Amino acid sequence: MIRPTRDLLDPALLRGATEVDTDEMSVDTDRMHEFEQVIRRQLELVGEDPEREGLLKTPSRVAKALSWLTRGYELDPAEVIGDAIFNENHENMVMVRDIELYSMCEHHMLPFFGRAHVAYIPDGKIVGLSKIPRVVEVFARRLQVQERLGEQVADALVDVLRPKGVGVVIEAVHLCMMMRGVEKQNSRTITSSLRGVFRDDARTRSEFLRLAHPNGAGY
Ligand SMILES: [Zn+2]
Repeated sequence: MIRPTRDLLDPALLRGATEVDTDEMSVDTDRMHEFEQVIRRQLELVGEDPEREGLLKTPSRVAKALSWLTRGYELDPAEVIGDAIFNENHENMVMVRDIELYSMCEHHMLPFFGRAHVAYIPDGKIVGLSKIPRVVEVFARRLQVQERLGEQVADALVDVLRPKGVGVVIEAVHLCMMMRGVEKQNSRTITSSLRGVFRDDARTRSEFLRLAHPNGAGY
């Protein structure tokens, strides 16, 4: 995976630190300073006064929040999975349902959020179940389109597990649809990404889709 330059230039990494505290986002102070200037200007452009008391710390808060919300660029699925891969002859579907996800659409930089349901059929290797939500997180914490998010999660699991198949269903609501334009308050977007037997075998696919939508749970 190609990492953004800012990661390579991160002084903490150059010092050889093994962990970067995600709360301590002031590590790259030049970048944060520039980020704050841009947000300050944004405030002016929407007609605000950045010197108003309530807004004084807003550029710094927004810069930190946005850095945190897009921290997935600095994460790598193979790294978050680490050594949590085990040899196992389990041959049935493994599914983690209702993984909460929060992402931002790349067209409007507004949030979309919902749930992911991720399943795979192992081919000799299984992954620690708690790692699957972390893989979702790696790709959700970037600017995204929902369709690509599902594809990337599916591809990452194919890469690390070489399973017989993978299925990812994402149901989400998009604030860019809810808050602006058409204001379609209740429409959910559902996407599915299928690999291997989930794509090629009708029975596997329908079992997965049935498990992923047992009662069309709303939120
Ligand atoms: Zn959008």
